[in-house]
Amino acid sequence: MRNLSTLGQLESKRVLLRCDLNVPIDNGVISDDGRIRASLPTIKYLIDQGAKVIICSHLGRPDGARVEKYSLRQIAKRLSELLDQPVSFSKDCVGREASNQVSILENKDVLLLENLRFHAAETSDSETERHDFAADLAELADVYVGDGFGVLHRKQASVYEIASLLPAAAGYLVEKELSVLEQLVRSDSHPYTVVLGGSKVSDKLGVISALLPRVDNLLIGGGMVFTFLAALGHKVGKSLLEESQIDTVKGYLEQAKSLGVNIVLPTDIVMASTFSADAEHLEAQVDELEQTSFGASGIGLDIGPVSAGVFADIISTSKLCFWNGPMGVFEFASFSKGTRSVAEALTKVQGLGVVGGGDSAAAVRALGFEDRAFGHISTGGGASLEYLEGKSLPGLEVLA
Ligand code: AMP
Repeated sequence: MRNLSTLGQLESKRVLLRCDLNVPIDNGVISDDGRIRASLPTIKYLIDQGAKVIICSHLGRPDGARVEKYSLRQIAKRLSELLDQPVSFSKDCVGREASNQVSILENKDVLLLENLRFHAAETSDSETERHDFAADLAELADVYVGDGFGVLHRKQASVYEIASLLPAAAGYLVEKELSVLEQLVRSDSHPYTVVLGGSKVSDKLGVISALLPRVDNLLIGGGMVFTFLAALGHKVGKSLLEESQIDTVKGYLEQAKSLGVNIVLPTDIVMASTFSADAEHLEAQVDELEQTSFGASGIGLDIGPVSAGVFADIISTSKLCFWNGPMGVFEFASFSKGTRSVAEALTKVQGLGVVGGGDSAAAVRALGFEDRAFGHISTGGGASLEYLEGKSLPGLEVLA
């Protein structure tokens, strides 16, 4: 992979930096600025080099329309605070407005361009449209730096096509994320534990089959656990269930047995009367999920306390641990305990404990954990999973 040093002298150069500043915003307030902070090392390096720094990113899914709530203007303010220097803003990411803003940049100045996805061409299926849009972006700069780790698995104009139009290199965030992922793929540290949760088992099939031969323990929680429990013959009430995946899951359970992998499923579950924050709830054994007072209409919304303790013991005594996906509906306080136990245990790993991006990263911050408590918090859930699955990431291919 080409790194920043391959770009040579950057003083006075216009550098187009693709970041992933797609942060959660609630009612106009950034609720987690992790991705902005993770982008700072490369931005600061470019400033130190005396470059004119032009940052582009997406925010949300405006689908090619100008949607004010997805404007990056709100990010410029936070970025400026974190950098402790002014950050100018261009109301469009291409065209006259953008080139005017670029033309007045001095060395060490930082400009943030408006949301790339206000233009449908950024994510278009048409290669020509993407290429033409990338060419418009390329006009603004002399070199390109790809540092949007969370979008590397996307074949999009500002991630993929652009890198063939300008001298290009990967930024520090991409380098750091990859070095952690490489350890997860190649390290010989044991015990190696992978913890998977979240809503859908179908999103995690690739990573399960790629990692099964490498790990000692595979712990399953979250909504996806009910497909595993159903595969073992348990009744799961109205809990999340992907019936079409039951046979695949049975195959994994068999494979794990023959590989000697310890697949650990919860033995108790927090069952709720409805899917809501203030739902009535109680703990039940996995073979009695339909025998609570909620009958067959109960919904499993978290792993139970006994299981949370078992998971925590296995995690905290691991040397290498990767966790992706909350253990329950952590957004509701009553169903966040399993996720909290897993997060706490991950901070105790005597080796490398990795939070695999997306909802797990949001969960640990929402539950009040400090970033530095973990070995690494990835900024890209989808990109991390695809890398661990062994898929090639388009945004990385072009920086090879
Ligand atoms: P994912 O995007 O697949 O990682 O899923 C994250 C989402 O899974 C979170 O919003 C959780 O609320 C949700 N989730 C976790 N456990 C459960 C469960 N038992 N039932 C329904 N949703 C769940």
